[in-house]
Amino acid sequence: MIETDILIIGAGPTGLFAVFEAGLLKLRCHIIDALPSIGGQLTELYPKKPIFDIPGYPSVQAGDLIKNLYEQIKQFQPGFTMNEIAKTIDKQPDGTFIVTTDKGTQHHAKAIAIAAGLGSFEPRKPLIDNITDYEEKGVEYFVKDPEKYKDKKIVIAGGGDSALDWTIFLADIAKEVTLVHRRNEFRGALDSVEKVQSLKNQGKVNLITPAEIVGIQGSGKVESLVIEKEEQTFEKEVDYFIPLFGLTPKLGPIADWGLEIEKNAIKVNNALDYQTNIEGIYAIGDINTYPGKLKLILCGFHEATLMCQSIYNKIFPDRKYVLKYTTVGGIQGFDGTVK
Ligand code: FAD
Repeated sequence: MIETDILIIGAGPTGLFAVFEAGLLKLRCHIIDALPSIGGQLTELYPKKPIFDIPGYPSVQAGDLIKNLYEQIKQFQPGFTMNEIAKTIDKQPDGTFIVTTDKGTQHHAKAIAIAAGLGSFEPRKPLIDNITDYEEKGVEYFVKDPEKYKDKKIVIAGGGDSALDWTIFLADIAKEVTLVHRRNEFRGALDSVEKVQSLKNQGKVNLITPAEIVGIQGSGKVESLVIEKEEQTFEKEVDYFIPLFGLTPKLGPIADWGLEIEKNAIKVNNALDYQTNIEGIYAIGDINTYPGKLKLILCGFHEATLMCQSIYNKIFPDRKYVLKYTTVGGIQGFDGTVK
């Protein structure tokens, strides 16, 4: 049985940063993740994408942000159970919890922080009959290594931020980038839409709208796509087809834990501490929902911070905590408690 103060389910940016905030309060953390590596969506879906909205970093690659988060937390020596899914939870009579993974590892904790993001990642696939035949053979639902598209012809499909961001990013790497979207309007950030339009005007990106990919051709790998535009179809030679239609959230076993769920997310008390309907179980980051919720990394950081304060007060009801800044005395000497 692994013993800890806070058991964090999910090693995405939110779960990792929670270790830091808990460490400042001298609370021990252990993290479980279904994946073999830390970093959640940033590692799995977009390790090389630049992120522009982390305070203090004008631009940081997703993979580097995760490396830095690990650097920041390792001083607090968190435990990790990787490659295992948190499957069941049992509340004990004393209010503590036992969480068991799919591989049978048991964890005993005073509080639970669910930082499970989107749960398992399932990409939404375009409705093309033979698309599964070409998966890993030119059809890719995530961009993990942009360098592999160097000097290649790629077609991206989609109208959201992901499709726009990768179109902009890969325009400098690939031989030819074509963005296909079924509408003339895009759902992504206005700034990104303008950048794509400007790249099109400079001849660096092809834009085909309103249009849809209706067929994939090639022997053993993708060689061309059939595109339908205004009731006409035509073929386009391509090395890679990257449909970016978003992800279908799948909560997995957490859905059966008796938590209040709304639209695949866990309802929390955002006025106070991001606790769920079950006392002692918190939900932070992309996994939770409340009025005005934004699924952004910095929002997860904020939620993790308030959650740790609440857990501290629950574990040590008799101690009076006075917030000190981490610069006062440095982290090593930081106590955080006043008896
Ligand atoms: P996640 O990163 O989703 O991590 C959750 C972890 O929990 C995963 O590792 C998963 O394996 C694990 N898990 C789930 N269920 C279980 C279980 N039962 N047992 C064990 N482990 C489990 N946000 C920004 O702020 N700025 C951006 O520029 C930005 N760009 C983005 C670009 C793309 C293409 C995408 C897809 C998202 C982007 N986001 C961006 C959103 C950002 O990635 C998320 O807000 C962030 O990843 C949420 O972090 P998290 O730690 O809450 O969850």
